Amino acid sequence: MSTPVFERIAIIGVGLIGSSIARAAMEKNAAGAVSLFDANAAALARAGELGIGEPAATLEGAVRDADAVFLCVPVGAMGSVAQAGIGAMKPGAILTDVGSVKASVARDLKAHAREGVHIIPGHPIAGTEKSGPDAGFGSLFESRWCILTPEAGGSEAYAAAAQTLAAFWRALGSRVELMDAQRHDLVLAITSHVPHLIAYNIVATAHDMESVTEGEVVKFSAAGFRDFTRIAASDPTMWRDVFLNNKEAVLEVLGRFDDDLTALRKAIRNGDGATLFNQFTHARGIRRSIIEAGQDTAAPNFGRDAPDPPKL
Ligand code: NAP
Repeated sequence: MSTPVFERIAIIGVGLIGSSIARAAMEKNAAGAVSLFDANAAALARAGELGIGEPAATLEGAVRDADAVFLCVPVGAMGSVAQAGIGAMKPGAILTDVGSVKASVARDLKAHAREGVHIIPGHPIAGTEKSGPDAGFGSLFESRWCILTPEAGGSEAYAAAAQTLAAFWRALGSRVELMDAQRHDLVLAITSHVPHLIAYNIVATAHDMESVTEGEVVKFSAAGFRDFTRIAASDPTMWRDVFLNNKEAVLEVLGRFDDDLTALRKAIRNGDGATLFNQFTHARGIRRSIIEAGQDTAAPNFGRDAPDPPKL
């Protein structure tokens, strides 16, 4: 068996992403040992029961011997957790994170920088709408991208640490791309943040519509609505923090979205079938390219195992 990339890692926040990293690291021998900590005592105890690592009584205890510390808490909590833990980290160790926003997290981590600890922000582009230690699974990152946003112009030791972190993510099955934090935030605003906002909004609109009862919305949801509700079932704390911390990029993309929606509204009002048809054909092509890039299945119904819901 190959040597693990890190002898020991620490996972702070043992929810969906943290527990998935812990599982994958052990299953794929990417880490020799995994220390766990979570401010939520029940989540930490559950992670211990699941056997995905060694729960520590304190944050300092979890990070002390780790070669890499992964902050897997909501974006708004990254700074305070870094502040509380970085003093106990060993020299030469890596402090990284998995937050869905990068510029604000990089700023918040850097504010507590310490000589000898390499701060390398990251974001695995993988997840589900579920939360907590039971929701994680070791194959979550396979064939998914992980974006790292190391600072430009760092020392040789810093560049080497970034390469080691990239090797760890590759060992979990990920593909790795290095990117500037601002660029990450704009790209993710388009591919993830605004789509989630649209999902939250359509679910709220459907609920508020006076002419349609909630019962009918739920009953006929397979017409498309239910696919938005899956996205809108995501963790409210996580998504609140994403929008508070990626404000500019999200507002920029929303401006473009508004313009395009206005054009579609005009086409509907004017009975402009050609515009509608062309846009929908173009969208279908984009779906095809996502499947060709290995980022989703071509199976009908998103490859759901149980396409027919239980009979009521
Ligand atoms: P999650 O399942 O809710 O897990 C987060 C865990 O961190 C919870 O147990 C939470 O406890 C704990 N926590 C919160 N504040 C803490 C603190 N100050 N110190 C220690 N532990 C703390 O969340 P997740 O979905 O794994 O998301 C974690 C991070 O991954 C977020 O930054 C998110 O942006 C990023 N991410 C998520 C996805 C996704 O699809 N979910 C994908 C990629 C990246 P409580 O439950 O008590 O708050």
